[in-house]
Amino acid sequence: ADVKDVDLHEGIDNTLLILNHRVKNKIEVIKHYGNLPLIECYPAQLNQVFMNLLSNAIDALESTPDDYNKQIVIATEFVPPDRVKVRIWDNGAGIAAEVKNKIFDLFFTTKQVGKGTGLGLSICYQIIKKHSGSMQVNSEVGKGTEFAIFLPIKQSST
Ligand code: ADP
Ligand code: MG
Repeated sequence: ADVKDVDLHEGIDNTLLILNHRVKNKIEVIKHYGNLPLIECYPAQLNQVFMNLLSNAIDALESTPDDYNKQIVIATEFVPPDRVKVRIWDNGAGIAAEVKNKIFDLFFTTKQVGKGTGLGLSICYQIIKKHSGSMQVNSEVGKGTEFAIFLPIKQSST
């Protein structure tokens, strides 16, 4: 597949549609979409990143009580001159300090057998790296978790 100029919001919205059965009537999804330029990327790969990060956010919220005010915030912004930032935040249980440095490892999971493969974040990392971007995680136990992705607008032609 080739690189294409894409609207990231379309990719995020399509991913949310696929996940709707796990979200509707349970989780409030709040979007703060900035005014983004088109991004030159491998669209299916970036959609995989959104899928993995949003699935993890939903997983984290599914282990909170039913009467808890479950939220996911998705925020995008243009970072001049040549990057965009996408943040996906959830108010789930957060990531324990002793686990934080392992979450990007292949096959690392804290989920039950059959519920987690430990592949999601390591795939995200590879895809973001391939796009010359970067990814950060901020998490506070009991408060929530935020993954932030930075992506260049244009792929380098090397
Ligand atoms: P999996 O989802 O199959 O466990 P991932 O690579 O997607 O594998 O995630 C690795 C681990 O990182 C998870 O098992 C979990 O412990 C932690 N994690 C990832 N995202 C979140 C999140 N939003 N909230 C809390 N923990 C998370
Ligand atoms: Mg996962």
